Amino acid sequence: MEFEPVIGLEVHAQLKTRTKIFCGCSTKFGAPPNRHTCPVCLGMPGVLPVLNKKVVEYTLRMALATNCTIANQSRFARKNYFYPDLPKGYQISQYELPIAEHGYLDIEIEKNIKRIGITRIHMEEDAGKLIHDPDQPTSRVDLNRAGVPLMEIVSEPDIRSAKEAGSYLRKMRRIVRYLEISDGNLEEGSFRCDANISIRPKGTSPFGIRAELKNLNSFKNVEKAIQYEIARQKEILLDGGRIVQETRLWDPAKSRSVSMRGKEDAHDYRYFPDPDLLPLVIDKEWIESAKNELPELPDARKDRFCKEFELLPEAAEVLTSSHETANYFENCLKQFPYPRQVANWVMGSLLGLLNARGISIIDSPISPAGLAELLLLIEQEVISGKIAKTVFDEMANSGKTAKQVVAEKGLVQVTDVSAIDEVVLKVIKDHPSEVKKYKNGKTRLIGFFVGRVMKATRGKANPKIVNEALLKHLSTNP
Ligand code: ADP
Ligand code: MG
Ligand code: ZN
Repeated sequence: MEFEPVIGLEVHAQLKTRTKIFCGCSTKFGAPPNRHTCPVCLGMPGVLPVLNKKVVEYTLRMALATNCTIANQSRFARKNYFYPDLPKGYQISQYELPIAEHGYLDIEIEKNIKRIGITRIHMEEDAGKLIHDPDQPTSRVDLNRAGVPLMEIVSEPDIRSAKEAGSYLRKMRRIVRYLEISDGNLEEGSFRCDANISIRPKGTSPFGIRAELKNLNSFKNVEKAIQYEIARQKEILLDGGRIVQETRLWDPAKSRSVSMRGKEDAHDYRYFPDPDLLPLVIDKEWIESAKNELPELPDARKDRFCKEFELLPEAAEVLTSSHETANYFENCLKQFPYPRQVANWVMGSLLGLLNARGISIIDSPISPAGLAELLLLIEQEVISGKIAKTVFDEMANSGKTAKQVVAEKGLVQVTDVSAIDEVVLKVIKDHPSEVKKYKNGKTRLIGFFVGRVMKATRGKANPKIVNEALLKHLSTNP
């Protein structure tokens, strides 16, 4: 019997605002415990929350980027539950009237575009953090994170595999980063995902009972956990068992999930409209101006790169993987307008270097202008492409410009025909047996001669001139 997975994802993205969602406290990470707190985010009685406009602007950007309908009027609600990291006894969230609904995101799966529906996007506050020190008899609470703004994006159950889930999440993260509204970092928890998974016999339409997976803190874990869950449910069903609705925790160390709570302890949050906050009204003008301020999004930029620069989709995909990479590429092009060459160098040497050093492109030791200068030296035949690799490495290590490195190391390409002729003749003279074989038809020995000439000139001879000289002398030499 064949089964089909049905998956819906809930993503929580922490918004990069300077201050919290309902008070002026800093959202900065890493301060001593409870330093960034005030009566509002500590949940003292009698205080009043004031909505941070930036939170709305950021969420609005995301809603527009994911093709949602924006609610003219939305509302904040109290989600009631007791937990020590939630001093008020309720979390302010949105419930029956979220800011945005009915959007979608297109993902690419094996060269096909698949549309994943977005049910809703809403804003809410984060809770604090409990610190359990195994050497202490008590747990402690840090409320620096209480009131940090979150945006929750809930997908329709349109996802059908772990791979599609990974692709959806990567796309989502790419968009929040392009919009500069969230760091989108799974490992650091600024981008969190819960996965709802069920399976059904292939070809049938009713959904199966779902399990919700939590604690998925890397793309790899999301995909692994989903695969594990699909296999687990299949086994139960094939065994004649029944799936129970539950929340399961993924254990990355053991690569398996364990049940955290079943449906019988499902929460009843007693949502109701927060009487301290007015309905949020977003008029047409606000939506229009937000639309106009939207940057070029990943898909649009990728398409433009393909058309404008005649790049292959695979290359355009890599170059638009972040807006910083795309900006780097376009800045380099401003000074060296040859897209293919720039693309090859950015995707090859540059990304290789950044990967090896584990740094982001904004911290690249070689600037777009610096790379352009290097590529210009190749184009003008001052250095060969091969020498350019050496120059590139030296630029990265020393911080010097391409011109400085070339001058200091004497790497200028030899284009003097008579100087190259001299070396070519010597190489021919020194290798009589190879010359004989060459003349007897083993013409691929040309590579051997080129190698010798290059070695003798320490790689500096212009390869085109070397080739021409070799062909000439090997055909005339007795
Ligand atoms: P809850 O608060 O119970 O988590 P939400 O509505 O916030 O409910 O989220 C439900 C998520 O689960 C959505 O992403 C939705 O697409 C997904 N989902 C709902 N039913 C199923 C199902 N039977 N199988 C898989 N995913 C489902
Ligand atoms: Mg849920
Ligand atoms: Zn505060």
